[in-house]
Amino acid sequence: MDENIKVQNLTKFYTLTLLKTKKTVTGYYIIKRLKSDLGKTASPTYIYDFLANLQAEGYILPIPTSKSKRSKGFQLTQLGEDFVDRILQRFGNLIEAAIVSKLQVCASCGVKLFDNFYIETINDKKMNFCCKHCAKAFKNSMQ
Ligand SMILES: [Zn+2]
Repeated sequence: MDENIKVQNLTKFYTLTLLKTKKTVTGYYIIKRLKSDLGKTASPTYIYDFLANLQAEGYILPIPTSKSKRSKGFQLTQLGEDFVDRILQRFGNLIEAAIVSKLQVCASCGVKLFDNFYIETINDKKMNFCCKHCAKAFKNSMQ
């Protein structure tokens, strides 16, 4: 499914997770958390543009906050919740694919492994090899 809003970097991804985990967030809060949690300096323009795009799509609603009239808070709508869930799912799949592809190579020669490969336990760790010979070569190289 093609999304109208592209989430192609960590700044946007983290903004969505903050919206998902907090009831109401302000742009200022997002910028603060990006800095403290990820060491990322985001420009306010970038964050407010992203929030404006989310709002235009109907994914978030502005909520007046009591503290100051200038700091607008935002909340996810149901549509926004669904959008964030799809994005989280997609990132989850990407991470899973990265992990799986990492496991499915011979630990010795790095060749890609398909259905039948050779598993040997070395130092209590199950390791995958393309063949017995690679397993043996790997063990020899550890000594
Ligand atoms: Zn191999």
